[in-house]
Amino acid sequence: MIPYEELKTILNNNDRRFIEDLAQRARAVAVQFLGRAVSIYAPVYLSNFCDNRCVYCGFNREMGIERKKLTPEEMHSEMAKVAASGIRNILLLTGDSRTMSPVEYIKSAVNIAKTYFPSISLEVYPLEVDEYRELFLAGVDGVTVYQETYNKERYRQLHIAGKKTDYNYRYETPERIAKSGIRTISMGVLLGLSEVSEDIYQLFTHLEWLEKKYPGVEYSLSFPRLIPLKNSSVDYYEVSDITLIKLICLARVLFPRVGINLSTREKPQIRNHALPLGVTRISAASRTSVGGYSLRHCEDHENPQFEVMDNRPVAEIVAMLQQQGFDPVFTDWRRIPAENLHMNDE
Ligand code: SF4
Repeated sequence: MIPYEELKTILNNNDRRFIEDLAQRARAVAVQFLGRAVSIYAPVYLSNFCDNRCVYCGFNREMGIERKKLTPEEMHSEMAKVAASGIRNILLLTGDSRTMSPVEYIKSAVNIAKTYFPSISLEVYPLEVDEYRELFLAGVDGVTVYQETYNKERYRQLHIAGKKTDYNYRYETPERIAKSGIRTISMGVLLGLSEVSEDIYQLFTHLEWLEKKYPGVEYSLSFPRLIPLKNSSVDYYEVSDITLIKLICLARVLFPRVGINLSTREKPQIRNHALPLGVTRISAASRTSVGGYSLRHCEDHENPQFEVMDNRPVAEIVAMLQQQGFDPVFTDWRRIPAENLHMNDE
């Protein structure tokens, strides 16, 4: 791993030539190890009920928003709409409420998702190993979990009620996922919550440790930048476009085979610019509210978790990727039905 002081120096160095050199190294590593494939996914929010109080999040339990969770019929409606756009790789999300979104509810969503999508990932509250295992056997192949910030004191200030106050339980979540047999784990911090170089150093250290202990897992990193809530009095750390670009370059150079995700939190210009630096997975045409694809028609009343900055439809994202010389990939994973695994028994 790169020493902390060196990482901090890189993030503080805004000399144009230095940044261009770093970007060239990232581009070279990306071409050497990853080729030109970029996979496309979309999120579907199942529920915005949440028992936690993360002060930076619009879903936190104190927010007077309309709460909703999808019924099975509504899940079909949302997923059919997403599938009709060509998406085959889905990320299912819930707020953090075991009561309102128990594992059985998540599993029922996975069973419905299987009828539309070959690849299903989750971004839900942290679970136990046997629960992850149950969802893996139901058809889940990836889980996203962000530590938010690795700074324990800052974490304590920002997560003030609910199960998420338990820093260690969250920190140990990627390991529980790895033990369950799930194929891919996506990790990250919410940039802006704490000092960036410290958080990124801890994130890279955590990833490096997991790679050594669980080498069979595919890992990916995300660098979401916090979009502060309106009228929020919480102090945040500014994360510039240049810093984000440098983080992506660093991740690519230090972890040549690890995936890098870039969501629609970022504007089109940033996403287009970041792609050649080693981004491997992008979301497209995302809606970040419950029922946002098919059930709601007035954006003012959607209560999204965050505002989408890139509203380009899937076809436009595909055209952009092709213009830049990338291969847009909708399906890079297909589960083999259990009965096909015993073909050579005789
Ligand atoms: S970040 Fe997640 S756990 Fe925290 S309030 Fe928002 S939805 Fe709930």
